[in-house]
Amino acid sequence: MPCSNCERQNIECRSSPDSNSCAECVRRGLSSCDLVVLPSTWRNLSRERARLQARLDENEAKRLSAESDVLAAEEAARAAEVAVRAAEAEARTKVHRALRTAGSARAKDFRLRKMLALLDRREKSLFDRELKAIEDEEREERKAEDRARSTESSSVVASSSAVVPEDVSFSQLVDNLSPSFWKSLGSGGEMPAPTAGSSQGS
Ligand SMILES: [Zn+2]
Ligand SMILES: [Zn+2]
Repeated sequence: MPCSNCERQNIECRSSPDSNSCAECVRRGLSSCDLVVLPSTWRNLSRERARLQARLDENEAKRLSAESDVLAAEEAARAAEVAVRAAEAEARTKVHRALRTAGSARAKDFRLRKMLALLDRREKSLFDRELKAIEDEEREERKAEDRARSTESSSVVASSSAVVPEDVSFSQLVDNLSPSFWKSLGSGGEMPAPTAGSSQGS
């Protein structure tokens, strides 16, 4: 049953959800709408209201849950950013430490190589000097041996006994004993007869 305004205009009269006036009267700003709402329409509207309210309540829970999910996700994102920054800082610290270690190892390597080169040069010159000293010493020893041998052979011939000259060492004395001395010592173990005038060893 249309209101009289709509009936005059011959247009469809529909109830408005926010007002007791019909939708057309609300649109045109008329305050004199005489739309009569039937009890069945009220019941339908009331049912529809209850249904919408139930959907709103149901959605409210979903909305709150979703909003709290947003907050939790934002919090997780902030925590992740903090963790990333901390991990990056730690990694950079490790990089700096490794660079320092590598740098000092390179410097040490350089110093050690330098010392090694110095040592090589020093060793070479010492070796040359030492070699020369050894050669000189050997030459001197040979001369001394030759002198001792000639001195001893003459003293042995002169005394006809194993008189040891003071400047002749034991090894030189042993070297200069005759092969017959060693032969007699090996067979009987007794002291050999004096070897006066016999041929000298070596
Ligand atoms: Zn109307
Ligand atoms: Zn109306």
